Amino acid sequence: MKSRRVFIGSIISGLIPILGYSIYGRFFMNIKSQSKMPVFFFGHGSPMNAIERNQYTETLREIAKKIPTPNAILCVSAHWETNGTWVTSMESPKTIHDFYGFPKELFDIQYPAPGNFSLAKNISEIISNPKINLDANEWGLDHGTWSVLRHLYPDANIPVLQLSLDKRKPMSFHFELGKELSYLREKGVLIIGSGNLVHNLQKIDWSPNVKPHDWAQEFDDWIKNKITSRDFNSILNESLNLPSGKLSHPTAEHFHPLLYILGSSTNEDTLKFEYEDIQHASISMRSLSFT
Ligand code: ZN
Repeated sequence: MKSRRVFIGSIISGLIPILGYSIYGRFFMNIKSQSKMPVFFFGHGSPMNAIERNQYTETLREIAKKIPTPNAILCVSAHWETNGTWVTSMESPKTIHDFYGFPKELFDIQYPAPGNFSLAKNISEIISNPKINLDANEWGLDHGTWSVLRHLYPDANIPVLQLSLDKRKPMSFHFELGKELSYLREKGVLIIGSGNLVHNLQKIDWSPNVKPHDWAQEFDDWIKNKITSRDFNSILNESLNLPSGKLSHPTAEHFHPLLYILGSSTNEDTLKFEYEDIQHASISMRSLSFT
Protein backbone atom coordinates (compact mmCIF):
# COMPACT_ATOMS: atom_id res chain seq x y z
CA MET A 1 0.00 0.00 0.00
CA LYS A 2 2.75 2.42 0.99
CA SER A 3 4.95 1.58 -1.97
CA ARG A 4 1.97 2.12 -4.29
CA ARG A 5 1.36 5.53 -2.74
CA VAL A 6 4.97 6.54 -3.33
CA PHE A 7 4.73 5.27 -6.90
CA ILE A 8 1.67 7.37 -7.63
CA GLY A 9 3.45 10.34 -6.06
CA SER A 10 6.38 9.98 -8.43
CA ILE A 11 4.08 9.91 -11.45
CA ILE A 12 2.51 13.18 -10.29
CA SER A 13 5.98 14.72 -9.73
CA GLY A 14 6.99 13.65 -13.22
CA LEU A 15 3.95 15.38 -14.69
CA ILE A 16 4.68 18.74 -13.08
CA PRO A 17 7.10 20.03 -15.73
CA ILE A 18 4.83 18.72 -18.50
CA LEU A 19 1.78 20.47 -17.10
CA GLY A 20 3.81 23.63 -16.70
CA TYR A 21 2.78 24.50 -13.16
CA SER A 22 4.08 23.69 -9.77
CA ILE A 23 2.28 21.71 -7.10
CA TYR A 24 5.45 22.43 -5.20
CA GLY A 25 4.61 26.09 -4.82
CA ARG A 26 0.84 26.02 -4.80
CA PHE A 27 0.43 26.31 -1.05
CA PHE A 28 2.57 29.42 -0.94
CA MET A 29 1.20 31.07 -4.07
CA ASN A 30 -1.64 32.90 -2.36
CA ILE A 31 -0.12 33.74 0.97
CA LYS A 32 0.61 37.28 1.90
CA SER A 33 4.09 38.22 3.02
CA GLN A 34 4.29 37.76 6.71
CA SER A 35 6.73 38.08 9.57
CA LYS A 36 8.61 35.00 10.67
CA MET A 37 6.49 32.73 12.82
CA PRO A 38 7.52 31.68 16.31
CA VAL A 39 7.94 28.00 17.19
CA PHE A 40 6.46 26.38 20.28
CA PHE A 41 6.95 23.36 22.46
CA PHE A 42 3.89 22.53 24.56
CA GLY A 43 3.67 20.06 27.39
CA HIS A 44 0.28 18.41 26.82
CA GLY A 45 0.02 16.14 29.88
CA SER A 46 -3.22 14.35 30.67
CA PRO A 47 -5.86 14.30 27.91
CA MET A 48 -8.16 15.89 30.52
CA ASN A 49 -6.43 19.19 29.81
CA ALA A 50 -8.36 19.17 26.54
CA ILE A 51 -11.68 19.69 28.37
CA GLU A 52 -10.58 21.44 31.54
CA ARG A 53 -10.11 25.15 31.98
CA ASN A 54 -7.15 25.89 34.20
CA GLN A 55 -4.14 28.17 34.29
CA TYR A 56 -2.40 26.07 31.65
CA THR A 57 -5.30 26.14 29.19
CA GLU A 58 -5.81 29.87 29.77
CA THR A 59 -2.15 30.40 28.92
CA LEU A 60 -2.65 28.61 25.60
CA ARG A 61 -5.67 30.76 24.78
CA GLU A 62 -3.73 33.94 25.45
CA ILE A 63 -0.75 32.84 23.35
CA ALA A 64 -2.81 32.49 20.19
CA LYS A 65 -4.07 36.06 20.57
CA LYS A 66 -0.52 37.44 20.67
CA ILE A 67 0.96 35.87 17.55
CA PRO A 68 0.16 36.31 13.84
CA THR A 69 -2.56 34.00 12.60
CA PRO A 70 -0.71 31.16 10.88
CA ASN A 71 -1.41 29.99 7.33
CA ALA A 72 -1.09 26.44 8.59
CA ILE A 73 0.19 24.46 11.57
CA LEU A 74 2.69 21.62 11.54
CA CYS A 75 2.56 19.65 14.77
CA VAL A 76 5.06 17.02 15.86
CA SER A 77 3.18 14.94 18.42
CA ALA A 78 4.67 12.39 20.82
CA HIS A 79 1.80 10.09 19.95
CA TRP A 80 2.67 9.24 16.35
CA GLU A 81 5.70 6.96 16.13
CA THR A 82 6.46 5.28 12.84
CA ASN A 83 9.15 3.63 10.78
CA GLY A 84 10.36 6.44 8.56
CA THR A 85 9.03 10.00 8.76
CA TRP A 86 5.48 10.69 7.61
CA VAL A 87 3.40 13.82 7.23
CA THR A 88 -0.39 13.79 7.04
CA SER A 89 -1.56 14.87 3.59
CA MET A 90 -5.32 14.23 3.70
CA GLU A 91 -7.68 17.17 3.22
CA SER A 92 -9.81 16.23 6.26
CA PRO A 93 -7.67 14.56 8.94
CA LYS A 94 -9.74 12.55 11.41
CA THR A 95 -9.71 13.22 15.16
CA ILE A 96 -7.98 10.28 16.84
CA HIS A 97 -8.88 9.41 20.45
CA ASP A 98 -5.70 7.54 21.33
CA PHE A 99 -6.32 6.87 25.03
CA TYR A 100 -8.68 4.88 27.23
CA GLY A 101 -10.25 5.07 30.67
CA PHE A 102 -11.30 8.71 30.33
CA PRO A 103 -14.82 10.25 30.36
CA LYS A 104 -17.06 10.00 27.32
CA GLU A 105 -16.91 13.80 26.99
CA LEU A 106 -13.30 13.43 25.90
CA PHE A 107 -14.14 10.78 23.30
CA ASP A 108 -16.88 13.01 21.91
CA ILE A 109 -14.44 15.76 21.00
CA GLN A 110 -13.87 16.41 17.33
CA TYR A 111 -11.25 18.80 16.02
CA PRO A 112 -12.30 19.18 12.39
CA ALA A 113 -9.41 21.33 11.14
CA PRO A 114 -8.69 20.88 7.44
CA GLY A 115 -5.41 19.39 6.22
CA ASN A 116 -3.43 20.74 3.28
CA PHE A 117 -2.11 18.41 0.60
CA SER A 118 -0.09 21.13 -1.14
CA LEU A 119 1.82 21.97 2.00
CA ALA A 120 2.52 18.31 2.77
CA LYS A 121 3.73 17.87 -0.79
CA ASN A 122 5.91 20.96 -0.48
CA ILE A 123 7.57 19.61 2.67
CA SER A 124 8.24 16.26 1.00
CA GLU A 125 9.75 18.05 -2.01
CA ILE A 126 11.88 20.57 -0.15
CA ILE A 127 13.32 18.05 2.30
CA SER A 128 15.05 15.21 0.52
CA ASN A 129 17.05 13.80 3.41
CA PRO A 130 15.35 12.25 5.26
CA LYS A 131 12.58 11.26 2.90
CA ILE A 132 9.24 12.62 4.15
CA ASN A 133 6.46 10.21 3.21
CA LEU A 134 2.91 11.42 2.59
CA ASP A 135 0.23 9.77 4.69
CA ALA A 136 -3.05 9.97 2.79
CA ASN A 137 -5.35 8.00 5.08
CA GLU A 138 -3.77 6.18 8.01
CA TRP A 139 -3.27 8.82 10.72
CA GLY A 140 -4.95 12.15 11.39
CA LEU A 141 -4.79 14.38 14.47
CA ASP A 142 -4.06 12.57 17.74
CA HIS A 143 -4.62 14.04 21.19
CA GLY A 144 -1.05 15.33 21.38
CA THR A 145 -2.16 17.75 18.68
CA TRP A 146 -5.83 18.46 19.28
CA SER A 147 -5.70 18.71 23.08
CA VAL A 148 -3.39 21.70 22.56
CA LEU A 149 -4.91 23.19 19.41
CA ARG A 150 -8.40 23.08 20.89
CA HIS A 151 -7.30 25.84 23.28
CA LEU A 152 -5.05 27.73 20.86
CA TYR A 153 -7.51 27.74 17.96
CA PRO A 154 -10.94 26.59 19.19
CA ASP A 155 -12.55 27.27 15.80
CA ALA A 156 -10.39 24.60 14.10
CA ASN A 157 -10.25 26.77 11.00
CA ILE A 158 -6.50 26.66 10.32
CA PRO A 159 -5.09 23.77 8.27
CA VAL A 160 -3.16 21.28 10.40
CA LEU A 161 -0.56 18.70 9.42
CA GLN A 162 1.02 16.20 11.75
CA LEU A 163 4.58 14.96 11.39
CA SER A 164 5.51 11.55 12.77
CA LEU A 165 8.49 10.56 14.89
CA ASP A 166 10.74 7.96 13.29
CA LYS A 167 11.13 5.65 16.28
CA ARG A 168 14.34 4.10 14.97
CA LYS A 169 16.31 7.33 14.96
CA PRO A 170 18.66 8.97 17.50
CA MET A 171 18.11 12.37 19.10
CA SER A 172 20.36 14.14 16.59
CA PHE A 173 18.08 13.02 13.73
CA HIS A 174 15.08 14.83 15.22
CA PHE A 175 17.13 17.95 15.90
CA GLU A 176 18.52 18.07 12.36
CA LEU A 177 15.07 17.52 10.85
CA GLY A 178 13.85 20.46 12.93
CA LYS A 179 16.52 22.56 11.22
CA GLU A 180 15.31 21.40 7.82
CA LEU A 181 11.74 22.32 8.68
CA SER A 182 12.64 25.82 9.87
CA TYR A 183 12.07 27.29 6.38
CA LEU A 184 8.36 26.97 7.09
CA ARG A 185 8.60 29.74 9.67
CA GLU A 186 9.11 32.25 6.85
CA LYS A 187 6.00 30.91 5.11
CA GLY A 188 3.58 31.62 7.92
CA VAL A 189 3.54 28.01 9.16
CA LEU A 190 3.40 27.56 12.91
CA ILE A 191 5.64 24.68 14.00
CA ILE A 192 4.61 23.04 17.27
CA GLY A 193 6.21 20.22 19.22
CA SER A 194 3.82 18.51 21.64
CA GLY A 195 5.17 16.19 24.32
CA ASN A 196 6.31 16.56 27.94
CA LEU A 197 9.75 17.34 29.33
CA VAL A 198 9.12 14.99 32.25
CA HIS A 199 6.82 12.08 31.46
CA ASN A 200 6.65 9.01 33.68
CA LEU A 201 3.16 7.51 33.81
CA GLN A 202 4.21 4.78 36.27
CA LYS A 203 5.12 7.40 38.88
CA ILE A 204 1.98 9.52 38.58
CA ASP A 205 0.35 10.56 41.84
CA TRP A 206 -3.25 11.73 41.42
CA SER A 207 -3.57 13.18 44.94
CA PRO A 208 -4.51 16.84 44.97
CA ASN A 209 -1.69 19.36 45.46
CA VAL A 210 0.97 16.66 45.30
CA LYS A 211 4.58 17.84 45.13
CA PRO A 212 6.81 16.85 42.20
CA HIS A 213 9.15 13.90 42.68
CA ASP A 214 12.68 15.16 43.40
CA TRP A 215 14.06 13.68 40.18
CA ALA A 216 11.22 15.23 38.17
CA GLN A 217 11.97 18.68 39.54
CA GLU A 218 15.69 18.09 39.04
CA PHE A 219 15.33 17.16 35.39
CA ASP A 220 12.82 19.92 34.66
CA ASP A 221 15.29 22.45 36.14
CA TRP A 222 18.19 20.88 34.22
CA ILE A 223 16.43 21.08 30.88
CA LYS A 224 15.28 24.63 31.57
CA ASN A 225 18.89 25.68 32.25
CA LYS A 226 20.25 23.93 29.16
CA ILE A 227 17.63 25.49 26.89
CA THR A 228 18.24 28.90 28.46
CA SER A 229 21.97 28.67 27.81
CA ARG A 230 21.31 27.22 24.31
CA ASP A 231 23.46 24.23 25.27
CA PHE A 232 21.71 21.95 22.80
CA ASN A 233 24.70 19.58 22.62
CA SER A 234 24.20 18.59 26.25
CA ILE A 235 20.51 18.08 25.60
CA LEU A 236 21.27 15.83 22.64
CA ASN A 237 24.09 13.89 24.23
CA GLU A 238 23.49 13.81 27.99
CA SER A 239 19.88 14.46 28.94
CA LEU A 240 18.38 11.00 28.84
CA ASN A 241 21.52 9.38 30.27
CA LEU A 242 21.24 11.36 33.51
CA PRO A 243 19.66 9.41 36.40
CA SER A 244 16.93 12.06 36.54
CA GLY A 245 16.57 11.90 32.75
CA LYS A 246 16.10 8.13 32.80
CA LEU A 247 13.40 8.43 35.46
CA SER A 248 11.75 11.31 33.62
CA HIS A 249 11.66 9.41 30.32
CA PRO A 250 11.35 5.63 30.58
CA THR A 251 10.67 6.00 26.84
CA ALA A 252 11.78 8.97 24.75
CA GLU A 253 8.78 9.79 22.57
CA HIS A 254 7.49 12.65 24.76
CA PHE A 255 10.95 14.22 24.76
CA HIS A 256 11.64 14.04 21.03
CA PRO A 257 9.18 16.76 19.90
CA LEU A 258 11.29 19.29 21.83
CA LEU A 259 14.24 18.53 19.54
CA TYR A 260 12.31 19.72 16.47
CA ILE A 261 11.64 23.01 18.20
CA LEU A 262 15.25 23.48 19.28
CA GLY A 263 16.35 22.59 15.75
CA SER A 264 14.01 25.09 14.14
CA SER A 265 15.05 27.91 16.48
CA THR A 266 17.88 30.36 15.80
CA ASN A 267 20.27 32.24 18.08
CA GLU A 268 18.46 35.45 17.15
CA ASP A 269 15.17 34.17 18.55
CA THR A 270 13.94 35.25 21.95
CA LEU A 271 13.26 32.33 24.26
CA LYS A 272 10.24 32.48 26.52
CA PHE A 273 9.01 29.91 29.00
CA GLU A 274 5.29 30.27 28.49
CA TYR A 275 4.21 27.96 31.29
CA GLU A 276 5.88 25.84 33.96
CA ASP A 277 4.34 23.37 36.33
CA ILE A 278 4.72 19.71 37.20
CA GLN A 279 1.35 17.97 37.33
CA HIS A 280 0.65 14.74 39.22
CA ALA A 281 4.28 14.60 40.49
CA SER A 282 5.77 13.22 37.27
CA ILE A 283 4.43 15.20 34.27
CA SER A 284 6.12 18.50 33.40
CA MET A 285 3.84 20.93 31.63
CA ARG A 286 6.75 23.26 30.80
CA SER A 287 5.97 25.01 27.53
CA LEU A 288 8.19 27.41 25.65
CA SER A 289 8.55 29.50 22.54
CA PHE A 290 11.27 30.91 20.32
CA THR A 291 10.15 34.12 18.64
ZN1 ZN B 1 1.13 12.37 25.65
